[in-house]
Amino acid sequence: MTEAEAENPERVWLKAATPIIAAGPLPYPPSETLTSILKEYLTEVEAAFIGKAFKLKQSQTMEQLVKSSKGMAEADIQRTCEALARKGFIFNQPSSSGVMVYRLLPLEVVGVFEYTFMREKPPEGFDEEKLKRLARLYEKLGTELRDSIQGAYDNVVAVFKTQPPVDRTVPLQKTEEGKEIAIEQSAGEVGEKILIAKNVEEIIDKFDDIGVGNCFCRLYRKALGKEYDVDAPYDVCFTFGKSARHVISQGFARKVSKEEAKAIMKKVEDAGLVHKAFHNKSDVKEIENSICNCHKDYCNTFDYWRAGMIAMVNYATHIAKVNDDACTGCGTCESKCPVGAAIVDDGKAKIMQDVCIGCGVCAHFCPENAISLSEKPRVVFQPPPRLAK
Ligand code: SF4
Ligand code: SF4
Repeated sequence: MTEAEAENPERVWLKAATPIIAAGPLPYPPSETLTSILKEYLTEVEAAFIGKAFKLKQSQTMEQLVKSSKGMAEADIQRTCEALARKGFIFNQPSSSGVMVYRLLPLEVVGVFEYTFMREKPPEGFDEEKLKRLARLYEKLGTELRDSIQGAYDNVVAVFKTQPPVDRTVPLQKTEEGKEIAIEQSAGEVGEKILIAKNVEEIIDKFDDIGVGNCFCRLYRKALGKEYDVDAPYDVCFTFGKSARHVISQGFARKVSKEEAKAIMKKVEDAGLVHKAFHNKSDVKEIENSICNCHKDYCNTFDYWRAGMIAMVNYATHIAKVNDDACTGCGTCESKCPVGAAIVDDGKAKIMQDVCIGCGVCAHFCPENAISLSEKPRVVFQPPPRLAK
């Protein structure tokens, strides 16, 4: 501990918070709430290590950590990194050339928050009360994030616009009765064509290592004591390849076969959840590392956007199209759409082109099979709503 830190012990926690915030896409304010969250997980020694070793670089080899931690012995760094990996703060997996790389994870998207709530069993030393306390702190931090974003709305939205898409929507393939959803080439202008897995089965088939964990969004709501009503399995958060090996080895998820993964995806589709794939480096040309299956009301990415906390930046490959002759105006698509893109007007469904993320949930549930999907790769950007003061 430095002299300054001895005089003001809070500096250790603020110094740890800085690289953790920088590691993720959400611009959390470095508030007392954030440091209170860190104190629930970390010892002071671990916080000091993060603040010092990861101050300048998020991913490092052991050789680099020996230098950046300024004087810590390799065995101590090794022990500390292993403890931090178990807590969800460090991703420690070998690179393609076999060198172990230690990557500091953010608080959220994807990091400590997700790895806390997706596990079968709570983290070591956590009881139900501690999980509830943490959930309340995360909720408070979300309110602070919303206030800081709303307070500097124009500037923050301009920054959001420069960020790559967080995820890619992978369209559903079948209707509720098991018929194929009609998918056609868009007659309109088609964006850059990228060779990309068209459905979740194709993604699953790429990998031997597949992990599945619980839906952290729903279990977070449960810890907050909030209601949620969804007839879907809990184990819907998939990871693949290196990400799967990490979460399985740390006990955040369990290994599943391709067959079991596909069977879970089928249940997910019947529950009206949206497949969202995450790619390495947030680049859809790179391989997928995970798939979240998101409920329109209970998934944090939809919920945070509606709450004015984040923008929705999504890569969509398709767009919904309504056959007016078949549409009866029943309103099912409007009630099922996760982003409010399907609206019934004058007895017919209309699709808001700039909002639709092409998930196919409307087509899955339309009782008249009046909705098809057209291929139209593009980034869908929706700013957070500007909230009334
Ligand atoms: S669910 Fe189908 S029939 Fe009902 S309003 Fe939407 S498009 Fe029309
Ligand atoms: S209209 Fe809504 S439910 Fe239908 S594909 Fe677009 S985003 Fe999905």
